[in-house]
Amino acid sequence: MFDKVLIANRGEIALRIQRACKELGIATVAVHSTADAEAMHVRLADESVCIGPPPASDSYLNIPRLLAACEITGADAVHPGYGFLSENARFAEILEDHNITFIGPSSEHIRIMGDKIAAKETVQQLGIPVVPGSEGGISGELEARKVAESIGYPVLVKAASGGGGRGMKVVHRSEDLLSSMASARAEAKAAFGDDTVYMEKFLTKPRHIEIQIFGDGQGNAVHLGERDCSLQRRHQKVFEEAPSPALNADSRKRIGDTVAKAIGELGYRGAGTVEFLYEDGEFYFIEMNTRLQVEHPVTEMITGIDLVLEQIRVASGSQLTISQEDVTFSGHAIECRINAENPRTFRPSPGRITYWHPPGGLGVRVDSGVYQGYSIPPYYDSLIGKLVVHGKTRNECLMRLKRALSEFVIDGIETTIPLFNELIRQPDIANGMYDIHWLEKFLSKP
Ligand code: ADP
Repeated sequence: MFDKVLIANRGEIALRIQRACKELGIATVAVHSTADAEAMHVRLADESVCIGPPPASDSYLNIPRLLAACEITGADAVHPGYGFLSENARFAEILEDHNITFIGPSSEHIRIMGDKIAAKETVQQLGIPVVPGSEGGISGELEARKVAESIGYPVLVKAASGGGGRGMKVVHRSEDLLSSMASARAEAKAAFGDDTVYMEKFLTKPRHIEIQIFGDGQGNAVHLGERDCSLQRRHQKVFEEAPSPALNADSRKRIGDTVAKAIGELGYRGAGTVEFLYEDGEFYFIEMNTRLQVEHPVTEMITGIDLVLEQIRVASGSQLTISQEDVTFSGHAIECRINAENPRTFRPSPGRITYWHPPGGLGVRVDSGVYQGYSIPPYYDSLIGKLVVHGKTRNECLMRLKRALSEFVIDGIETTIPLFNELIRQPDIANGMYDIHWLEKFLSKP
């Protein structure tokens, strides 16, 4: 087991990782930019190192500075959290070259899954169903037209290196194909430095259902069920739940077993998420995330498995201690992402939190990195906490969520809490009847 883990992240996820380390008796190192000197993850860590000025490129994304922080503190492993360098194959490789363990999969698996075209090819060979579309990237006009005609409009042009919903364009008519491809390419080039695009059938009313998997890199793998993340704005998740209201035990087992088998064959190590669109009873792979997800707590709440603890164990060379039979699902969990944003326009609302009172009670979990008097800096993403609620049934979970939201008091900044208060009162949400377009339609109503 490791002696000291450096956490290359900030905010709620840095605290989340510290908690697992503390339970395992591992010392923790926090890193921070000058803007985060007063942050909770710095206060609670055993040691901390300032790694640079506020812009992430000069601090949280700066590999030489993170390496120096490891050397200074003698950390023997790095947990990257999510975002920042968590899916950077080069970072994983450099750490390994310095005999520091990257708590995550091999750099090879990060690289394959980071290229969406390679990822699709890889999982398809392992027997996972994918969205119909082009085989690989598309370059020429003729090829684009041929693929679009064969899968049928509407089609979606996507960036091979995409992420965060960028570089994606829906095309409804053949007249718009070339201009949409050009703009997807330009957006992809600007955001990712790679203008390779590919094409998929645009599914008109799918749900986003993702399978949490776990492998030990030694051929053993399990699935921990699904999360339904269909409530999205601009392809970004807002509210997640498990189990999905759209699946039954049979369909859960079918897709879960298919994915776990594929991940075992791949020899994948650590936590990962295989994302699907689900429409008319069929699953279509869209991408795999080779890291811990923001929404991992909903899985923890219904399985009782500490995902970060397992990540650390497996990274230290242990075999998986859980078998598929050990994984049981109990009750229902929902997560609301509490962002420092205007609840309608989603404009960021940084500033000082003058009052902070999180909810409590049975089945309520708040993962956050803020406190009363803390000033949210304007440099990073606006997630300030996650409210995760568990209940024996979906109904109980919703009632508890309503109660927990009503207790949550945050003053001094705007947050997305009023939006969730509205959402849980909608009959479609109460009935679990929503697809990936539901939230945007709801938000566009006057
Ligand atoms: P990113 O890595 O940018 O998040 P994803 O491939 O994970 O991109 O897709 C993000 C979201 O975009 C999905 O959750 C879904 O809402 C939408 N999406 C992606 N592919 C399709 C598709 N073929 N049809 C319809 N919607 C899609």
